[in-house]
Amino acid sequence: MANIYSELSFEDYKHCTLCPRECKVDRTNGQTGYCRETDKLKISSIGAHFGEEPPISGKNGSGTVFFTGCSLKCCYCQNYQISFQGIGDFYTCEQVAGELRKLVESHGIHNINFVTPDHFFPHTIRIVELLRKTNTSIPILYNMSGYQKLESVKALEEYADIYMPDFKYADKQLAKELSHAEDYPDRALESLIEMVSQKGFLDSFIDDKPIATKGVLVRHLILPGQVQNSKDVLTTLFLEFGKDIPISLMSQYYPTSMLMKNDKSADLMYMKKRITLKEFEEVYEHAVSLGFRNMHVQFPQNFRSKKDKTDFAPDFEKEKPFKGNR
Ligand code: SF4
Repeated sequence: MANIYSELSFEDYKHCTLCPRECKVDRTNGQTGYCRETDKLKISSIGAHFGEEPPISGKNGSGTVFFTGCSLKCCYCQNYQISFQGIGDFYTCEQVAGELRKLVESHGIHNINFVTPDHFFPHTIRIVELLRKTNTSIPILYNMSGYQKLESVKALEEYADIYMPDFKYADKQLAKELSHAEDYPDRALESLIEMVSQKGFLDSFIDDKPIATKGVLVRHLILPGQVQNSKDVLTTLFLEFGKDIPISLMSQYYPTSMLMKNDKSADLMYMKKRITLKEFEEVYEHAVSLGFRNMHVQFPQNFRSKKDKTDFAPDFEKEKPFKGNR
């Protein structure tokens, strides 16, 4: 059923309020706001990605589209090359739809995965319409920071099948310090309530299916020295949605070279290290004690090598940014 609240269109770029930053710049005129992108669709990578959670990547991969720029811009961004440095090329919607159709044919990808698409929402809608015209009917996944406007999420209802938002912070002060978004906890929660009301919980958990086709999976990345924030995020999710909400608990955080070079802020020293096993265990035990039973858990030993590098650290200057991608 058509959404009664709002529709997203290319007109939105003229006085951009697509995300909570509400910059009100005219992106059609070359102006840029916080996300640093005009209305020219810029993408850093399109490919079959195998590093998502098992019901998302499956055997054939998730068809990821990494949009250049970001409306949140966390100082520790694990994809800083595209969010801060603007790596990417300009595409038309037709070209993106064409690339995705090729991935469907060549790989049998399980879904189309728009990664951090907020500042290009109208383009994603056009891409979905083009795919539907050619009967490309695999699930559409919106993979987002959690910092969304409620109105934008309402407008996505007809186009999204799966939502995979982060829930990064319950602590407003931390959200302000690391992402300049003191209102993050409120925006994330109201958006998540809307997502769950539209699509329910991820069906791979509910129906015990190997590949997800619909629903919501919430991601949380544990940050160094921030156990209490992680616990509060989990408690918030439990109180609002109960123990069945699907959660992906991630421990892959690593300090990027961008963060390590950030010597302006001595305050960020606590972010310049990996999380400890003790921190992970404390957060994980809290999740278990709350009774969450639909969890993907990235245990620390799954990613730490002897040299303490991570396979989850992408390099978007390479043609294939993620190790193991085809
Ligand atoms: S999408 Fe970009 S320009 Fe638009 S409100 Fe958000 S940060 Fe500002």
